[in-house]
Amino acid sequence: MVAGSFTPSCKANLSRDAGGIIIGIESTAHTFSFGWVDGLGAPGQSKSAFVRPVEGGIHPREAADHHSQAASRLLSDLLAEEVFDISDVVAISFSQGPGLGPCLRVGASVARALSIKLDVPLIGVNHCVAHIEVGRERCNCDDPVLLYVSGGNTQIIARLDGRYRVLGETLDIGIGNMLDKFARTQGIPFPGGPRVEELALKWLEKNPKPSLDGLELPYAVQGMDLAFSGILNAALNLIEKGKPLEAVCWSLQEHAFAACVEVAERAMAHSGKTELLLGGGVACNSRIREMCDLMAESRGATSHVPEKSLCIDNGSMIATLGRLQLLWGEPTKITDSAIRQDLRTDETDIVWN
Ligand code: AMP
Ligand code: MG
Repeated sequence: MVAGSFTPSCKANLSRDAGGIIIGIESTAHTFSFGWVDGLGAPGQSKSAFVRPVEGGIHPREAADHHSQAASRLLSDLLAEEVFDISDVVAISFSQGPGLGPCLRVGASVARALSIKLDVPLIGVNHCVAHIEVGRERCNCDDPVLLYVSGGNTQIIARLDGRYRVLGETLDIGIGNMLDKFARTQGIPFPGGPRVEELALKWLEKNPKPSLDGLELPYAVQGMDLAFSGILNAALNLIEKGKPLEAVCWSLQEHAFAACVEVAERAMAHSGKTELLLGGGVACNSRIREMCDLMAESRGATSHVPEKSLCIDNGSMIATLGRLQLLWGEPTKITDSAIRQDLRTDETDIVWN
């Protein structure tokens, strides 16, 4: 991989007007969300509902039931704000994959129904690519390395030859799932990541110069890939040994985030790219943001992250990518609109390049 083989700047071509509002529907896992972008690509405020299991992880069918029940209320809430009129809508985009099958099917069905009812094009989009494009749009990034840290996904991605290529990724669970699972064992409900962050900050308040002595965890970087189940088990062992929860939360963040940032830095070094873009729900975390800032600064690069409402799964990011596909590519035929649970980041052609 050499820097020269990467596709050049594409930002210059993105300011076309799609001529109206594009609605985006997100339903890959725990979130059902309607969002939108205007004709020039400015993302609006999404209306979202989240599955919060009383115990255990997310059950795909129960989450799908939740999404079906939430859909019409959320759309009504969005339209009730009267930020745009339904007659201004020029296309409906939806997360076609990757994700949990039953959840994806709800979003796809709602999208097909709306597209037929409004007689506007349907656009199936890749959820992971949507995280990248909403970040590029909001942060005015051109050609970044993306550190995508969400519940189910952890990937380090960069553009090469017309696709977003996965340069490194988790070999087992996503970093957000790891934080959520750890939190659940401590009686903290989903999503656990924000609470782990709060507890880690409390530890820092009590220990301004904290030490990792007695709090070491495995550092699972394997080449350009990552793994989080070993860190999770080791953190649970520390709790069993009586280490304070706040201390373990702090150590868990330090180890897991440093591993991600190390791989992202190597991706930047190999690719010659000078922008880092954070995306996914875990990008809401102030410590991973700080680590990315420090890493980027130390190599004369820049680090970017969109506002929190656009880091977590949301409909507006789906609309953002839907708009680009509408402008530069083809709408999705109903016959091609089946969901793709295993859709990979690098299967989507960057036609808006
Ligand atoms: P997503 O799948 O992209 O919607 O992101 C959801 C994931 O982000 C869940 O695993 C959350 O626990 C995690 N998350 C959200 N906020 C934070 C935070 N402040 N720190 C760490 N993880 C977070
Ligand atoms: Mg996501």
